[in-house]
Amino acid sequence: MSQNRKKVTKDLFPFILEEAIEFHLKRRVRKTAVENLVKLGMNETTASRYISSLSNMLIGKCYESTMSISATEYFLDRIFIDFGEDKLSWALYALQQHLVYYESLRDFKRKGFWKLVRKYKTRIKEQEIDNDLEQAILDNFVAEDGRQRVIQELKELKVSDPVSVTINATTYKRDNKTISQLKYLRGYRCQMCKIQIPKADGGFYIEGAHIDPKKNRGNELPNNILILCPNHHKEFDYGKPEIISRDDEHFKFKLNGEVYDISLKLE
Ligand SMILES: [Zn+2]
Repeated sequence: MSQNRKKVTKDLFPFILEEAIEFHLKRRVRKTAVENLVKLGMNETTASRYISSLSNMLIGKCYESTMSISATEYFLDRIFIDFGEDKLSWALYALQQHLVYYESLRDFKRKGFWKLVRKYKTRIKEQEIDNDLEQAILDNFVAEDGRQRVIQELKELKVSDPVSVTINATTYKRDNKTISQLKYLRGYRCQMCKIQIPKADGGFYIEGAHIDPKKNRGNELPNNILILCPNHHKEFDYGKPEIISRDDEHFKFKLNGEVYDISLKLE
């Protein structure tokens, strides 16, 4: 077991995650995923173990071979950012099962890992109040920016942009800012029914919905985000939208017998 075991260095983490996600989404067979990591210099057995453990983590299933603590922390971080709190809860469940399994075989406590579990559990609680509140705060900044600047920023947005933004010394999720900007641009109206929902404070309540869900690696660019009222948001998420045509500037689809032709133009 000790022969030829290369250290899994930090620079490999993003690639391991990428391969595990592609395998998890059934877009890549296991053999290819492992081979891709071996090409990057990983030992084959280690690569195979990481793919197994991490793909189990993504479905909340106990895994047997251990990963380093820094790798585990990196994966929890990315799972939270890319997939949100549900997937993070599953990953933490898998990690706990793994720790119980591991400790049952050897007589020592993996304290550092349990500390990680506690740290990320706290994050889930914080996240629950997070998005709505954050968007409401960002709505104010965005409105001050004015239409032209909002359009400019949205047009320049790239998938590779940082996941967080700092405004007045506070850090926010980039996605929340993008959604706030789109709400502003769409006049806080549902793009399916045009309704506006007034709030007591003078603003309007509206939600951002991803066309390709984040869990299927949908991006956070304006061509993937609709502004919808809560009813249509749920109808869209729970229903089965049939795409009639779609490009960067419009999205035409059929949902529960109705056809919707929505402009995604930034103007
Ligand atoms: Zn609506």
